[in-house]
Amino acid sequence: MTHINLISDTVTKPTPEMLEVMFQAEVGDDVFGEDPTINKLQQKAAEMFGKEAALFCPSGTMTNQIAIAIHTQRLDEVICHEYSHIYQYETGGYAYNSNVGIKLLRGNNGILSVDQIEAAINPTYDWLTHSRLVVLENTSNKGGGTYYTNKDIEPIKDLCKKRNMFLHLDGARVFNALVETNESPKEVGELFDTISICLSKGLGAPVGSLLIGNKEQIRKARRLRKAMGGGMRQAGYLAAAGIYALENNINRLKDDNDRAKQLGKTLSTLNYVGDIRPIKTNILIFDVKPPFNADIFLKLLKEKGINASPFGPSTIRFVTHLEITDSMIEKTKSILKELEDRF
Ligand SMILES: *Cc1c(COP(=O)(O)O)cnc(C)c1O
Repeated sequence: MTHINLISDTVTKPTPEMLEVMFQAEVGDDVFGEDPTINKLQQKAAEMFGKEAALFCPSGTMTNQIAIAIHTQRLDEVICHEYSHIYQYETGGYAYNSNVGIKLLRGNNGILSVDQIEAAINPTYDWLTHSRLVVLENTSNKGGGTYYTNKDIEPIKDLCKKRNMFLHLDGARVFNALVETNESPKEVGELFDTISICLSKGLGAPVGSLLIGNKEQIRKARRLRKAMGGGMRQAGYLAAAGIYALENNINRLKDDNDRAKQLGKTLSTLNYVGDIRPIKTNILIFDVKPPFNADIFLKLLKEKGINASPFGPSTIRFVTHLEITDSMIEKTKSILKELEDRF
């Protein structure tokens, strides 16, 4: 039986080509700044986004947590969408690591407007938190892969400047957005104070994220990374995979996005499928109707060799990625159609 894993784009394993460059990597002790492959990856990422510097970290949680710590002081507040990864999936790290509060906003499938953010900024009274940092997520994970264009972000950037606030991008999947909008990473770099990107999602590297910013921010970030236990030694083997991913795996993300849309088209014809969230990139979120629910439906899929995740009692998430081929998409479509008989 073919196994089709739609659980997340984190499930990919390095390809033989990626493994080959990992084996060949020149490495050193990165705590001393002496791993040439990590240095090359950091420089490459910084240049891509038109920034001065970057820092290789073990995870996107760490890059986000370091960004929050860089931009805030105790008793400050972060403003973000209620679906944000920094709130939902980072174990409350903003409070633990940075002693800050968080103000959650509701918006259209994970996307915030400038007016909402402006209305959420606290005036400066002694008894209120200082609104210090806005975090945008592009694409929005829990929002179902929705994205902002740079035009959407520009007024948010202007607002943050005017109100003396910082703007951080959780760009775990920013390249899935950029292949749709045809915007460049450099333009993204102009909008944000700091940017986090993940190498281990759709880009297919086994481990790693980068925090990108100016020299001063990244100097502080290096110290915070060490304090969090994230100083790494000969991690150039992993950085080599990251360089390979940035050089080879960005443009192909369009295929992942297109494949998610194809699956969505099939779902929209099926008797057991309820609401399907707008499919903008490689994440597909939909409801199944009773008597199906998430548990029953996922079990039926699993019997046919397809793995996916629950996203609520009757809600399912599919994520496409570089191990999902056209023939797997065809196979998935026919299994989804067969399940109409079980409804
Ligand atoms: C995956 C992800 C991260 C980082 O997650 P890690 O598992 O810590 O690497 C951050 N933000 C978003 C939106 C993500 O999807």
